[in-house]
Amino acid sequence: MHPPVTRFAPSPTGLLHLGHAFSALVGWSRARRSGGSFLLRIEDIDRTRSRPEFETALIEDLAWLGLDWDGEIRRQSDHFAEYDAALERLEAAGLLYPCFCTRKDIASAGAAPQGPDGPLYPGTCRHLDPDQAAALRNAGRPFALRLDMARARALVGDLFFEDETEGRIAATPELLGDVVLARKDIPASYHLCVTLDDAWQGVTLVTRGMDLLPATHIHRLLQALLELPVPAYAHHRLLTDGTGTRLAKRDNATSLRALREMGRSPADVRRLAGFQD
Ligand code: GLU
Repeated sequence: MHPPVTRFAPSPTGLLHLGHAFSALVGWSRARRSGGSFLLRIEDIDRTRSRPEFETALIEDLAWLGLDWDGEIRRQSDHFAEYDAALERLEAAGLLYPCFCTRKDIASAGAAPQGPDGPLYPGTCRHLDPDQAAALRNAGRPFALRLDMARARALVGDLFFEDETEGRIAATPELLGDVVLARKDIPASYHLCVTLDDAWQGVTLVTRGMDLLPATHIHRLLQALLELPVPAYAHHRLLTDGTGTRLAKRDNATSLRALREMGRSPADVRRLAGFQD
């Protein structure tokens, strides 16, 4: 087994909290324990929510925690042209369609089946006449690009990925429906960018929270469609507060900043995060 290439990929939309510290420590220790590499990637495609001050803060917080990373930090916002090329490839293969629905349209479309992240897209724009879609596009109507899941699925056959705790998992991306791969305001989606970057950066072990396990099914499909290597996965447990609620960025009480200001040391933070190496 080659030493793993792992990564931590935060979005600079708030301060890092204990849950992030745990996630970063998992990736970092897996690399450092076995002579692998640990990469830091800033997932800042959402230009309205990402803030340079959060990026500065997260870099400082990780360093304070005692983490170091290999090579340059990759910033997703520097790579929109590359993500776009991948979208064009999917579009040329007939796997994307423009969707002009607003949130309200989707909500009022009636009973859509539920996916792990909420109701699935009911497929309204999948049936749009191509001329009509082109006319709406030319008229400047905002649209998202959705993956035609049925077509994509038919193209690739059965897919699997390995998770360290769950073992071999059969990918069922269809449970998430026709996911959005690009929007007017965010021209490449999380699913697309994370899959491409993990491949382009040579990541061989993706360590991230259990909450992203449903997303991995989509990523496995994109890997097949775009002929990308398939990393191994280690989806880890999520940290919760005293009441069992998952930690979120808006709970500033557990931000690494706040803990540090309260006089906690990096060793205290590791302990509070329940991190044992
Ligand atoms: N950027 C994502 C987040 O902050 C994590 C992506 C990943 O680890 O795949 O939640």
